[in-house]
Amino acid sequence: MDTSIKEGHMDKTMCISADKRLQEFLESVPEDHSHRRMVQQEVKCGFGLDGVCCRLCSNGPCRISKARPKGVCGADRDTIAARNFLRSVAAGSGCYIHVMEQAAKELKSAALAGRKLKGVDALHRLCDELGIGEADDSQMALRLSEAVLEDLRRPYEEPMHLTEKLAYAKRTGVWKNAGLLPGGAKDEIFNAIVKTSTNLNSDPMDMLTQCLRLGISTGIYGLVLVNRLNDILMGEPELGFDPVGMRVIDPECINIMVTGHQHSMFGSLTGMMEHPEIKEMADRAGARGIRIVGCTCVGQDFQARSRCYEKVFCGHAGNNYSSEAVLLTGCIDLVVSEFNCSLPGIEPICEELSIPMLCLDDVAKKKGARHLPYHPEDREDVSVNVIAAAIASYVRRSRAGKRQNPMQDHGCNEAVTGVTERTLKGALGGSFAPLIDLIAAGSIKGVAAVVGCSNLRAKGHDVFTVELVKKLIARDILVVSAGCTCGGLENCGLMSRDAAGLAGPGLSQVCRSLGIPPVLNFGPCLAIGRIEAVAGELAGALGVDLPKLPVVVSAPQWLEEQALADGAFALALGFHLHLGLAPFVMGSPVILDVLCNQMEGITGGKLMVETEIDAAAEKIAAVISDKRRGLGLNE
Ligand code: SF4
Repeated sequence: MDTSIKEGHMDKTMCISADKRLQEFLESVPEDHSHRRMVQQEVKCGFGLDGVCCRLCSNGPCRISKARPKGVCGADRDTIAARNFLRSVAAGSGCYIHVMEQAAKELKSAALAGRKLKGVDALHRLCDELGIGEADDSQMALRLSEAVLEDLRRPYEEPMHLTEKLAYAKRTGVWKNAGLLPGGAKDEIFNAIVKTSTNLNSDPMDMLTQCLRLGISTGIYGLVLVNRLNDILMGEPELGFDPVGMRVIDPECINIMVTGHQHSMFGSLTGMMEHPEIKEMADRAGARGIRIVGCTCVGQDFQARSRCYEKVFCGHAGNNYSSEAVLLTGCIDLVVSEFNCSLPGIEPICEELSIPMLCLDDVAKKKGARHLPYHPEDREDVSVNVIAAAIASYVRRSRAGKRQNPMQDHGCNEAVTGVTERTLKGALGGSFAPLIDLIAAGSIKGVAAVVGCSNLRAKGHDVFTVELVKKLIARDILVVSAGCTCGGLENCGLMSRDAAGLAGPGLSQVCRSLGIPPVLNFGPCLAIGRIEAVAGELAGALGVDLPKLPVVVSAPQWLEEQALADGAFALALGFHLHLGLAPFVMGSPVILDVLCNQMEGITGGKLMVETEIDAAAEKIAAVISDKRRGLGLNE
């Protein structure tokens, strides 16, 4: 297993990747792709980086500098950066809330139609927590879905009802005192958009407060609750070890690559793919079977639940910035996209390789793709269309004689999969006490949640993430991950049991005795909410609030507006949050002071921007040491 970043990278027309086999493959292909375009886009706009360019009105764009400290309207750098930042957080929140709303609609449709739910235990547990009791499962699911939808659609001035039932109890007191309890999630977004339009709100503090409210609504609904609904609809994750990377793609199968975040849209499709009639159709087409190839977070989610989909899911091939390479293997027959992390860069590759694209949701409609609108009521028709398109495309590929997977040696033979708040607790014997004891004894110094996206700017593709994680586990810090970070970490071998050899003596010993890797795979970015649930359980067992825990959140390669909403949630929860790239607010002293200093007195959270890997590892370890001291533990 070679996870090192080799010096002497020769191809200067491409950024490097932590995944050396991927890099080698992308260097060898003639097609244009994001790893090449990153080099072409290397020079960045300083005003954009600092967040001090405003183009809200026709007097602009105004760019703020020492010589020109105000825009034509009088807005200064703090107002402009805060407006830009809040707009981004609102857009990111909108993305998560869209996914949440679609999952709730799916559950409502299943309840009304009396469809069988895969996770009935998950339904009962959640309804117990929320105080929803009904005579039968369908009625229970209906009440639950309606309660979620009502909350999302409440007015801004009316706090959502489920927030307090789902959040860690000590946090809700903090949020209430600081005026952070959010109103209806959709109206919070609407309000943020209005607030940030031309010549409306100019108060950076007010806009940052709204960022925290959006962080809480995003986190509790789009990161915590959405997994619980998906567990009901799609079945609960189970622990396992699975192969990962492009090696999972069998060129003799009909391969449907999925991208996005809306796992519940595939419930009918996977059921239909298991049907004997479909197997016969695949057989007649000369294929070994019909399979879903995981890519981006929907692939991570399938991977987490892979025990429920063993017959139709071949495995997770890669993260967002591996998706072009997955197509370039020439073994994909159809792309089905339903949400983001579906790069525009896949479109010309699909066109060149004659791979049809279907989009199930117009919010992610791709150029050149067929829009096949998904509504829960039409799910069977949508599935029939997807399968028909995949088989027809396979027949064309087969006739063209493309039967090799050039990346059959990519990735790893095993990565841990299906880690959740429940499976982790189960593996520890039904309680988090053993983990707390290991932390207290110092075998594990603390926990770093290294989460979020992959980008190409923070040292290269997955480079910051992989190298930072290696340095953290070497310091006996347990790493948990959710999002495209997982795709990079598992393809580079850090989620396999062999990686115990890279950990410090304490963590290595723990990994070997428990048979686990030092980096735990919680799956998609949505599962950041599952990590929050683990933190809540640890804090509850210790009788402290979340900021007291020796836990740090890091998004070393954050990419999207959604990641900024995630970050706002982490700060609202009271965690120290490390970012490997500065957010676009660095031109505002007021915002920096609030995020990096004042926030600690409001929620306990603190932003740490550190763009160098060694220094980031040092700072994260220092925070963990500090938190350990606070709990009376040895460093
Ligand atoms: Fe310039 Fe103000 Fe218009 Fe923004 S709103 S473009 S700062 S004049």
